[in-house]
Amino acid sequence: MEQGMKLWEQTLDALRQELDETDFSVLFSEANKIYKVEDNFIYIIVPNALTKFRIEKFYINKLNEIASSLSGSLVKLKFILKDEIEELEKPLNTGAEDVNKRPLRAEYTFNNFVTGESNRFAFLSAMKVAETPEALYNPLYIFGDVGLGKTHLMMAIGNYVLDNRPETNVVYTSAQEFAEDYFLATSTRKGKENIEQFYRKYRDAEVLLVDDIQFLENKPSTQEEFFKVFEHLHGINKQIVITSDRSANELKNMMARLKSRFNWGLSVDIKIPDKPLRLNILKRKLSFLIENPKDVPVEILEIIADHFTNNIRDLEGALRRYVTYCVSLNIPFTMENLYVALERLIPESEEEKNISGKIFENIKREVAAYYKISVADLESPSRKQVFTYARQMAIYIIKKHYNPSLKLIGEFFGNRDHATVSHSFDKIKNLLRTNSLVKNDYDILMKKIKK
Ligand code: ADP
Ligand code: MG
Repeated sequence: MEQGMKLWEQTLDALRQELDETDFSVLFSEANKIYKVEDNFIYIIVPNALTKFRIEKFYINKLNEIASSLSGSLVKLKFILKDEIEELEKPLNTGAEDVNKRPLRAEYTFNNFVTGESNRFAFLSAMKVAETPEALYNPLYIFGDVGLGKTHLMMAIGNYVLDNRPETNVVYTSAQEFAEDYFLATSTRKGKENIEQFYRKYRDAEVLLVDDIQFLENKPSTQEEFFKVFEHLHGINKQIVITSDRSANELKNMMARLKSRFNWGLSVDIKIPDKPLRLNILKRKLSFLIENPKDVPVEILEIIADHFTNNIRDLEGALRRYVTYCVSLNIPFTMENLYVALERLIPESEEEKNISGKIFENIKREVAAYYKISVADLESPSRKQVFTYARQMAIYIIKKHYNPSLKLIGEFFGNRDHATVSHSFDKIKNLLRTNSLVKNDYDILMKKIKK
């Protein structure tokens, strides 16, 4: 333990040389308690999920490298939250059973699953299945597009069963792993032994979770094998849960027998989340990311929810990216920063236009208010001097700070052509150098906009 402590300190010292001081202190000032040292792992407690996420995302390889080279042997650092200690201390299952178990992601629980119109029925069905030891709906077949929570729900069933009936043999596999296992079992020299191990793994399951069954399309011999497993487990009333990106009937090149089996139990779908659900998910995820979720204005969450509409993984990803960006640079959770943080995440598209749209509208509002005119005046063809000047100022600010295409800016100002936009920009740019009143306007406006 003491040695581990020393090694961790030295590792930190070495990293400090390479990092910006603020970054370093934000991330590592509190992340320094060693929880334990075991084999070649050093477990370090970190104060919150965001710190953990950032360390794992950006620094873990570097840290492992430094620690290993300092100690002269392979060292791996593991960053854990206080909440995870209990998980860590749970005795591992031993022997044959252990081989059978696929890891379930601990955070994929019913508790962490936010419900709305689009997923409530699937959620309730999954809960029911998890609560009921007798295979009630067999199989439970969950389908829907990618990123909508199928794996989460399926693992929630597994986690629930293991929490409440720990002796249950829960086997999680993706259809791909199943196919690989089968391939290995039948193609290697050890032949018989392997196939027996394969059978034991799947046929001894008491709850079998098979993710992404569509992967078995076009694989007749694996389908055949899965059919046998299915028949066996179904026959002895063991619960089977299957996910798919399509309904059973829509699967192609899948044995009819198998498809009809998939319809024997209960088939539920998860649909695209509506806006309230997307917002609720964002709020929930935010509470895991930062201590004071209220620091992020609801309007920001709304914008994110408006732009990531049909994949919850992307929705989460956008939020995480934004929060990480602001926290690591120690800048406020503003609209402007949202745009910058997500710029590359949102491809040049309608979406980008929309997201920039909100920001540009805001700038137009501020500029119009400042010159006591209306936003419509900014967009109007009128060349009244005060309108023109205000318009040029707004265009300058947008171009300088966001640099969208001239065409796009033009669209925001009553469809002006790119030459006009370009001229406006140059005009203010020159005035800023020569005219202190203009400079003064600009400074005040920027302060207002940044707010
Ligand atoms: P799928 O298997 O359908 O492709 P996942 O289960 O992997 O989707 O979900 C993608 C991500 O979205 C995961 O991080 C998951 O936790 C999250 N997610 C999906 N639905 C919900 C929900 N209703 N509440 C909270 N998180 C969700
Ligand atoms: Mg999945």
